[in-house]
Amino acid sequence: MRFAPKLLAWLRRAVATEWHGPADLPRSLTMEWRLIAVRWVGVLAVGPALPLMNLPLDRLIVAYAILTGAVAYNLTVRLYMQRRPDLFANGYVTTVCDSLLNISMVLIGGGFDSSFSYILFTVLISVAMRYGYGPALAMTLIFTGSDALEHFVVGKSPDAAFAFRSGFLCITTLLASYLRSLTVKAEVALHDRLVELQRLYADLAVAHQFLANVSHELRTPLTSIRAFSEILQSYPDDEETQQEFLQIITSESERLTRLVNDVLDVTKIESGEMEWREESISPTPLLELCARAFSPLFEKSTLRFQQDVPQHLPTVRGDYDRLQQVVHNLLNNAMKFTSQGTIALRASVLDDELHITVSDTGVGIAPADQERVFDKFQQVGDTLTGKPKGTGLGLTICRDIVAHHGGRLTLESEPGRGSTFTIALPVPAAELAVAA
Ligand code: ADP
Repeated sequence: MRFAPKLLAWLRRAVATEWHGPADLPRSLTMEWRLIAVRWVGVLAVGPALPLMNLPLDRLIVAYAILTGAVAYNLTVRLYMQRRPDLFANGYVTTVCDSLLNISMVLIGGGFDSSFSYILFTVLISVAMRYGYGPALAMTLIFTGSDALEHFVVGKSPDAAFAFRSGFLCITTLLASYLRSLTVKAEVALHDRLVELQRLYADLAVAHQFLANVSHELRTPLTSIRAFSEILQSYPDDEETQQEFLQIITSESERLTRLVNDVLDVTKIESGEMEWREESISPTPLLELCARAFSPLFEKSTLRFQQDVPQHLPTVRGDYDRLQQVVHNLLNNAMKFTSQGTIALRASVLDDELHITVSDTGVGIAPADQERVFDKFQQVGDTLTGKPKGTGLGLTICRDIVAHHGGRLTLESEPGRGSTFTIALPVPAAELAVAA
């Protein structure tokens, strides 16, 4: 008696393990695995009940032989299900075996006209629930065919009972399969919704992170503007200090404006709200204009500027101002991160693309950071030497703009030796032919 609770607990655990199956069981086999447990229940129920059915001894022996066959079959399914999931996932093999076992049982138990034939309805419903129309209808066909064969063998013509059995087996099959198809549809719809929800949640998390970064970046210039404005009031007579502070305030305001403009650009581009012009663009004048805009800055610095832009380049399609913005940003970065040497602006045609490169002999970017610099608010490098003024959004915007034009913005860089940014833009086939 002392062992009873322990035995009960063990039994409960064993049943739960049998029902749920191994932890790594593929989802497609869950139902198939549970039916192994259901078969055990069937065997345990029929086994002790057989002697009560008043069967002649020879039939009783055959019935137990069939039951032993069912045990062997169930053990085989249990053993091979995970090793050959392809064989079991569609359910056709088990459907045929279950049908044969049940027909044998019905025949031994007194034929299709006996009350044993009710077992067929249960089996059919379980098959329709598992696999739907195809296998369930195949099984109905096997049952009805065997029923007809039995009538033929014993020389009996099909009667009303046969017609009712066959008809209701068909109706049961169709109804159960229809219910299954509804469940499958609901499951698919639920899964789709779940995927959509997960995507929305991920988008929300990205938006939240972006908002947090923007607030953080806005706070820095705002704090210094406020602090310097307050201190300014403490120096009513010191014109030199006033000038110095006013300069800081102006430069911080400019930084704030740049940041707000960049944030607006990123959000507009990424939300698809940006209005893009679609025009034919000659790259040479565009690049020459960019170079001219930077020449006063180069004159003031010790940097050399090299321009290698052929006069005849094939035209590309896109938004002139936006492409100019990309080249400006790359030249601007090249100047920011180069203290000596050369900055070069080149253009050439490679295969069916126009390549515009901006290279410098500046600090370069470590391989680990080369993808990261295109992410929002990523300013890499040695923070101890002080970050150069910027928003950390420039390269994100550049990559987005180039991508909108069907192109790529790539980077090659070696720390200490410099960087080369390449804008690769597709050239329409007709333009290539003209340029050739
Ligand atoms: P920022 O406005 O800060 O320049 P960007 O998105 O344009 O933002 O650049 C991101 C970061 O990439 C920069 O802060 C810098 O660390 C790195 N970077 C960009 N261009 C260069 C370059 N030519 N040489 C070295 N580092 C660069």
